[in-house]
Amino acid sequence: MKFTETRGNAEGFQPEVPFSEAILNPSASYGGLYVPESLPAIDAAFFEANKAAAYPELAEKILKMFEIDIDDAVIEEALALYQKFDDPEDTTPVVQIEEDLFVNELYHGPTRAFKDMALQPFGYILSDLAKKIGKKYLILAATSGDTGPATLEAFAGKENIQVACLYPKGGTSDVQRLQMVTEAAPNLKVIGIEGNFDDAQSALKSLLASDTFKAQLQKSHISLSAANSVNFGRIIFQIIYHIRSYLALLQKGVIENGEKIYITVPSGNFGNALGAYYAKKMGLPIEKILITSNANNVLAELINKGEYDIRNKKLILTNSPAMDILKSSNVERVLFDKFGAARTKEMMDALTHENRYTLTPEELAALQEDFAAIDSDDAYGQKIIKRYADKGYVMDPHTATCLKAYEDLKEKDLPMVICSTAEWTKFAPTMLMAIEGNSEKRSDLEALHEISEKLGIEITPRVKSLFDKEIVHRDVVEKDAIESKILQFIQS
Ligand SMILES: *Cc1c(COP(=O)(O)O)cnc(C)c1O
Repeated sequence: MKFTETRGNAEGFQPEVPFSEAILNPSASYGGLYVPESLPAIDAAFFEANKAAAYPELAEKILKMFEIDIDDAVIEEALALYQKFDDPEDTTPVVQIEEDLFVNELYHGPTRAFKDMALQPFGYILSDLAKKIGKKYLILAATSGDTGPATLEAFAGKENIQVACLYPKGGTSDVQRLQMVTEAAPNLKVIGIEGNFDDAQSALKSLLASDTFKAQLQKSHISLSAANSVNFGRIIFQIIYHIRSYLALLQKGVIENGEKIYITVPSGNFGNALGAYYAKKMGLPIEKILITSNANNVLAELINKGEYDIRNKKLILTNSPAMDILKSSNVERVLFDKFGAARTKEMMDALTHENRYTLTPEELAALQEDFAAIDSDDAYGQKIIKRYADKGYVMDPHTATCLKAYEDLKEKDLPMVICSTAEWTKFAPTMLMAIEGNSEKRSDLEALHEISEKLGIEITPRVKSLFDKEIVHRDVVEKDAIESKILQFIQS
C-alpha cells in the first residue's frame, strides 16, 4: 500500500511513498501529513470469522490487509508487546455500564493511558526500520502528561532511536511526572521546563528552527522523526481497537452481525477519532462517531458550525489535560479524505495565517454524515465521575466527557461504545475531589490511597511502585537552556 500527501505534492518530495518512509519521515509536502491511498475492506463474514479472535491475532490480520512494507516477523514481534498488557488475549476489555452503553477500556498497558495501544508496537517497528537502514533518529516530544510516558516506555532501550521529552513543571500529575523521570535508559532524556505546556511546545518549536541545532544533528548524522499522531504509524494501530469493540459486542450477543453502533471518542489531537473514521470507511457498521471536547471546544465548533476559529481562543487548563488543545492535527486527514488535497491545503494555510478556516454548507453536511460533537466542562465531568463511582464503575476525567454524548447526541436506539482513554490512577487528586464533592486538592499519593480505601479498589501495582523508584531525570530548566541540554544528550 502506498501513501500520499494531504496538501498535495511539492518538488523534492516523492508523490507516493511506502509505509516505512511515511513513518520514518512523517512530514509531507507543505507541512502536510501522509495518508493511505486506499483502505482495505471488512465485512460481515470478517466479523463472524474473527469475533472470538485474541487481540494480537485480530491485529495481525488487519495489519496484513494494509499490505505495508514491514516483514511479517517484525509485525509479529511488535504485536507480541501486547503481552505487557493486563490480559494479553483481551487487551481492550469492553465493559457494560448501562443497558445500551459500553466502555472500551483502552488503558490496560504499561503507562495506563490508551497511547500504549499504538506506541508499544509502533516503537518496535520504527526502531527496527532505523536499524535496518543504519540510520539514527531523534524523537522530540512535548507532553502535557500522557504522550511523554507512553513514548518513553515505547522507546526505552531501543536501538537507533533517541527520545528527548519536555514536560511543564507542575503541569502534569505526580504519577505522570514520575512515569517520566524514573524511566531509566541511556537513549532517553527527560527535561522539566519552567512554564506551562504552551511554553514546552514553543521551546520545541524554537529548537526545531535553530541553525546550531540543525547543524549539530547533521554533524552527528541524526535525523528527526516524530512519534505523535501526525505519524500514520500510530493511526494504523488505532483502527484495530475500534473494530475489536464491535466484535466484542457481537460476541456478547448485544448486536446482530451488521447492526450499527455509536462510537464516542474523547478527543484532543483527533488520532483516536480518525482511527474510528477509517474503521467506518473500511466497513465497520458505525452509525456515527461522536466527538467530545472539554472547555477547549474547537472540535465541537468545527463539527457543529463548520468553523475552526482560534483567533480569540486561549488554551484553557482543565481536568482532562490530554484534551486541552487548540490545533488538532488529525482533522486534516479527514478534510483530505472528504475534500481533496487542494482544498485541504487552502484550509490549512488559512489556519496558519489567519487562525481560522470555514467549511461551506455542503462541506459541513459531508462532515456531519460521519461525525457529531459536543463539549462539556469540568463541573459536568466531576458529576459523572461521582455518579458512576457511586454505582461501582470508576472512570477517569477524559472518559467522563463521553457521557455528554450519550445523554445528548444519541438519536437512535443503538448501543454505544465509549472509549476510555486513561486509568483513574493517573488523575487521582481530581478523582477524589469529584468523589468527595469538594475542592480540596490532595497529593497524588494521598488521593490514590484514599480512593482505594473508599471504593475498595486496588491501586495498580505499576502506579504504586512509581513512588519508590529512583528519579533518574532531575533537570528542570528555563526555556532558553533546553537547546544546550538536548545537544549534550545527543552527543553523549
Ligand atoms: C491523548 C489522549 C486523549 C486524546 O486523544 P487524541 O487521539 O489526541 O484525540 C484523550 N484522553 C487521554 C487520556 C489521552 O491520553
